Amino acid sequence: MSRILYVEDNPANRLLVKRVLEAAGHTVLEAVDGLEGIRVAREARPDLILMDINIPGMDGFETTTKIKSIPELKDTPIIALTARVMDGDREMALTAGCDGYIPKPIDVNLLPLQVTEFLGGKREEVPAAQKSAYLRQYSQQLVERLERKIDELTRANAELQRMDELKSRFISIAAHELRTPLTVMRGYLTILLDPEAGFQLDDRIAEMLKGMEKGINRLQRIVNDMLDVTKIEGGTLELHLSPLAIKDIIRGAVQQQLPFAQQRGQQIIADDFHGYPPIYGDAERLLQAFSNLINNGIKYTPDGGTIRIYGQVIHSDGDWHEQGFPACEGDMVEIIVEDSGIGIDPEDQERIFLRFYEVKDPSLHSTSQSQYMGGGIGLGLAIARGIIEAHGGKVWVESEGHDPEKCPGSKFHVTIPLAPSHQRTFSIG
Ligand code: ADP
Repeated sequence: MSRILYVEDNPANRLLVKRVLEAAGHTVLEAVDGLEGIRVAREARPDLILMDINIPGMDGFETTTKIKSIPELKDTPIIALTARVMDGDREMALTAGCDGYIPKPIDVNLLPLQVTEFLGGKREEVPAAQKSAYLRQYSQQLVERLERKIDELTRANAELQRMDELKSRFISIAAHELRTPLTVMRGYLTILLDPEAGFQLDDRIAEMLKGMEKGINRLQRIVNDMLDVTKIEGGTLELHLSPLAIKDIIRGAVQQQLPFAQQRGQQIIADDFHGYPPIYGDAERLLQAFSNLINNGIKYTPDGGTIRIYGQVIHSDGDWHEQGFPACEGDMVEIIVEDSGIGIDPEDQERIFLRFYEVKDPSLHSTSQSQYMGGGIGLGLAIARGIIEAHGGKVWVESEGHDPEKCPGSKFHVTIPLAPSHQRTFSIG
């Protein structure tokens, strides 16, 4: 017999129609709204579609118009099955693309016969003289709904922006308020732990104070990250620019991260970037950006893995300007931080640069800077991107996908414009 798709949000109606039609030997597929109806119709190619008109989201008219516009479904009969029995409703359904109209409540004795007729080729049509008037009415209805939807979306978007601003304000206030007491605590701890200060601490107390120091360091890192994100968002990140050798930046970042890699039995293999022309940037901020990238490489790569850092100078023919890069005489340096880790799914490759975005369950947070897959608070990449973009550069990731078993790895690409030639004043190499 035939395969029939029933698009209907009311479960009791779905059950009734399913029973009646299955008793008549048909197979019944179900969809609860218009979008699901379109998806199931595309996948299953039913022989006939029964369409409720009052369904949430896209209504039955719009769903019908869409299904009829899909080439492989344009000849599939769609029958409106609806309680809308006002004057003109039938014509409206036919104008939207339906091939027939069965009013609700359905007559269970008649339904199998009605369906068989439509399967056999029966089609209803709006009389030609009335067609253009109904078409005009239908398109007006569509435009009105579109207008309402755009209005709703605009309002929802404004509300989301307001919430986002509130979130940014909260981060900024929290970070500023936490900074002062943390500084005080660190000050007292430093005095207590200073051997010159003359305190007689027994070993257990010294141990506990060291534990507190670790905790305070971690809190300070988080607060600093929150402050940095606030600055990046507000466009107030100050850069102290000077001509820099990329080899010094990379060497500094590797030195900072090497102890963490060693804890994990990993190797960091970095080019020496010998002979690269200088870039013009803020040494401390760039060190921070590359440290974040290398640290992620360590955290998201299993023990014994490898992090490689290499690069190239890209001499452009000068069309970088058209691609939105700032004035940099067209040349830039590209640095790649490649790991042999768990990789990142294509759909996450842009999102991971959003603040607080984490791919995995936040309950798996770790305070360690090296623990395998031990996530932080999700600011590292947002800060790295903010810093690199403030230098007129770009950062993006390439990875086959996320697979902790096969470990396809990830490649983070960074481009930074070279210093204009009149700024390349110091010798490198
Ligand atoms: P955090 O590491 O603090 O969670 P980040 O902003 O540094 O925050 O990274 C965001 C997310 O991106 C991480 O939670 C992780 O899921 C993913 N990620 C970042 N770097 C890598 C990498 N090298 N390999 C795999 N996943 C990564």
